[in-house]
Amino acid sequence: MSPVSEEALRRAFELLSEEIRRCTLCPLAASRTHAVVYRGSLRPRLVFVGEAPGRAEDLAGQPFVGRSGRLLDRAIDQLGSGLGAYGVLNVLKCRPPENRFDPHAARTCRPYLDRQLGLLRPSALVPLGTKALAALEPGAPAILEVAGRPRRFADRWGFPLIHPAAALRSTRLHRRWDQDVQALGSWLRRGALETL
Ligand code: SF4
Repeated sequence: MSPVSEEALRRAFELLSEEIRRCTLCPLAASRTHAVVYRGSLRPRLVFVGEAPGRAEDLAGQPFVGRSGRLLDRAIDQLGSGLGAYGVLNVLKCRPPENRFDPHAARTCRPYLDRQLGLLRPSALVPLGTKALAALEPGAPAILEVAGRPRRFADRWGFPLIHPAAALRSTRLHRRWDQDVQALGSWLRRGALETL
């Protein structure tokens, strides 16, 4: 694929983002405050993929801005320069009522994720939690079995982590989150993204 100019990429991504913000393809459009599209670089080396917006994200129109987002941002700070340019998005763009992940809506919404990744072209993905992992790899094992290690998806490498919200719910899972973020840092420092 020929390289896309910065301006063409910015315009294509903004058009797609506007399409998502106006989307009414599934019932979640009726209850959302904002569709939540993306934050980060338009040339990311790595993209963190969450499940769906929560209340704070729905109100702000930005992914991972609540308590979970603060934990994710601390992890991103820890990863430092080894991480480089990155992005953050969700599989589902609109908040499901009661924060119950809606698989039917996720199927309807899925083409937006594929189109975003098609434009952003990251080298690797970090699915956060079971639902995000299952969206990238249908039939994948439970997240606790695979988090903290590199894993091959259909078209690129990934490094699953548990969802930061789970890490905030228990000391044991917080320890697991810290360990797995360190493992991700080691993977990046070994130059993993340069060889993909
Ligand atoms: S969740 Fe996705 S498919 Fe449903 S209204 Fe929002 S953007 Fe559209």
